[in-house]
Amino acid sequence: MTATQTRRVALIGWPVEHSMSPTMHNAAFAALDLDWRYELLPIEPDRVATAVARLRIEGFRGANVTAPHKEAVMSYLDDLTEAAKAIGAVNTIEVRGARLIGHNTDADGSVAALLHARFRVRGVRAAVVGAGGGARAAVFGLLQDGAKEVWLLNRSARRAEALAHDLDCRDGGPPRLRVLLLTVETLLESARAADLLIHTTPVGMWPHSSASIWPDAVPLPAHLAVFDLIYNPPETRLLRQARESGAQAIGGLEMLVHQGVLAFQIWTGRTAPVAVMREAAERALAALGA
Ligand code: NAP
Repeated sequence: MTATQTRRVALIGWPVEHSMSPTMHNAAFAALDLDWRYELLPIEPDRVATAVARLRIEGFRGANVTAPHKEAVMSYLDDLTEAAKAIGAVNTIEVRGARLIGHNTDADGSVAALLHARFRVRGVRAAVVGAGGGARAAVFGLLQDGAKEVWLLNRSARRAEALAHDLDCRDGGPPRLRVLLLTVETLLESARAADLLIHTTPVGMWPHSSASIWPDAVPLPAHLAVFDLIYNPPETRLLRQARESGAQAIGGLEMLVHQGVLAFQIWTGRTAPVAVMREAAERALAALGA
């Protein structure tokens, strides 16, 4: 195969330099001996139309989309999956002939991360802290996979109410989402009553790794599974508190890997080499100095 036949996939975002996706996807392409290349496409805020035009003109075979373009890109695409529409964000673009299709693989990625940790979502009660993009994907995944109830805890009610409005009642049944203002009391109470606690705020993310939403000197309930979407550091303070309390601790790296696995399969039609992608993501994370 000649160099001119190399199939290109782009990451659209600003900034993109610290992304772990190129390492992860290029390792997967190499492992399957595919002549594909994952490239960075830094696109300034408000210039997302340019990025989409470049995808079409330069013959890219797909793309990932990251901050700040995940919402803005939607209006430039030809079609959106149900997940992307409901979540209100696109993280993966499929090039299907002349059409660009917007997907969101974060929701299935979050459920896959839970399954990898042998946690099944069907019938559980979950407390989700935060109401941003990560929370939207996680909540969509929970509802789609049959969670019984989901409590949304956020410091500002407005954003959590918007999330509940957009995602609840999609199956015509009773509402499964309930909004609570995030306080120490609501957090402790929800954690006691829930099977699963999903943390989706940036609290505890590098370089502020000593921070946690969970108060000191209070053990987490040992029956709980705690899923922190943060992957840098791999074990957040919250996850350490969970582990030391005897609760199950699940880190965000597996979600990052699985959203990538799903994107890879959308672009190439091939089964992704999950172990290769996980190992590459761990390597990229270590290189960031986590
Ligand atoms: P986002 O859209 O900016 O939302 C952040 C949420 O956290 C908001 O609800 C915000 O509350 C809340 N928040 C921010 N600072 C807070 C604080 N000091 N105390 C309490 N709540 C606070 O961010 P995002 O895109 O959802 O990302 C959040 C985290 O998830 C990041 O660490 C990101 O790396 C991670 N993430 C990981 C994956 C993965 O694949 N593992 C995927 C997506 C996201 P307000 O609404 O009140 O502002």
